[in-house]
Amino acid sequence: MTEASSPPLRCWAEIDLAALERNIKSIRSALPDHIRYVAVVKADAYGHGINQTVARFMLSGVDIFAVANVREAAAVRELGPACPILLLSPILPDEDPFLLKYDAMPTVSSLGEVLRFQTLAVRAGRTLSVHLKIDTGMGRAGVWHEQGQEIYTAITQSRNLKLTGIFTHFPCAGTDPTFTDQQRRLFLELLDRLTPHPGSDLLIHADNSAGLETFPEKSPFNTVRVGLLQFGILPSEHSILSEVRTNPVLSFHARVGLVKTVPGGTGISYGRTHIVSKDTRIAVLTGGYGDGIPRALSNRGQVLIHGNTCPILGRVTMDQTVVDVSALPDTAVGDKATLVGRQKDAEITIGAFSRSADTIPWETLTSITMRVPRVYKANLAV
Ligand SMILES: *Cc1c(COP(=O)(O)O)cnc(C)c1O
Repeated sequence: MTEASSPPLRCWAEIDLAALERNIKSIRSALPDHIRYVAVVKADAYGHGINQTVARFMLSGVDIFAVANVREAAAVRELGPACPILLLSPILPDEDPFLLKYDAMPTVSSLGEVLRFQTLAVRAGRTLSVHLKIDTGMGRAGVWHEQGQEIYTAITQSRNLKLTGIFTHFPCAGTDPTFTDQQRRLFLELLDRLTPHPGSDLLIHADNSAGLETFPEKSPFNTVRVGLLQFGILPSEHSILSEVRTNPVLSFHARVGLVKTVPGGTGISYGRTHIVSKDTRIAVLTGGYGDGIPRALSNRGQVLIHGNTCPILGRVTMDQTVVDVSALPDTAVGDKATLVGRQKDAEITIGAFSRSADTIPWETLTSITMRVPRVYKANLAV
């Protein structure tokens, strides 16, 4: 027997890089040719692994990467010495020097930031590119649209700052098209009144994945900012984006570590929240909330084994999860249990998994922990 180079997989995520590439190309081709593409790869590329996915993003023809902070910018910069990087979250003052170090563009939301970044750039004898964020109703980062002109002027008058983009963000693009339309209008009205009028090379962007659902055919915005959809996940259950062909990039699996039969009346797992009514065959899976299987799936979630649905019994624990395999007498130690993904004709989507856990795909993906190896399937895209 040859010695294995690393221990076998107990709980892991499979990442299909070719699917990622196809998804991005598919999103791009659904948009007019001139639209530029900001690939949002924050939080370790939504849990898919920034180091392993950035090259695919580049191959797929993205124009800009967006991340949350300077540490994430460092990871992208190392792999893409020339690609533009936009930082979406506010920068802490002691992070400022790293904007220069990694050549990353901060998002500006206040006059204080304009002054800070101008001083930073002057001291370094450099020019710093920035994007201006307008709050049209998200109530988070950005300058309130009514004060947009003021900050715009401050940036354009700062000799060491170069305004390369202006953007806004939608809080309910997938659920409230009326509010989203109103935001589009407020943003457009501001853009129209800006003096001096922005040049055509300025990146103007608003649309996240859900925003693409109401992306106007003749959009006045020349750039999109896409996160979730790239990974083949629709931003809502009834999303019309299913017309843009994408496929899930990630699947999530554990294995059967033990099979046994417990007598009727046995309480399963911590708190004995599930008492079996009759003799029950159970499988103990090699994954728990320490891997990112939400505890909220206790007594609610399901997994696939041999293409069949098996309900989770009792509480999900840190390292182990119990499922009912009474209907599957062939279940054996070592079998694969799929938490998210396909087995034969059955599928648990990340959307369904997230709904059972009372959460959203964004959180599910970014909750898969460091203990979970990501296994990359790197076939060429076709
Ligand atoms: C995360 C984020 C996005 C991407 O959103 P998705 O819904 O994942 O497409 C876009 N813009 C901003 C400002 C973000 O923070």
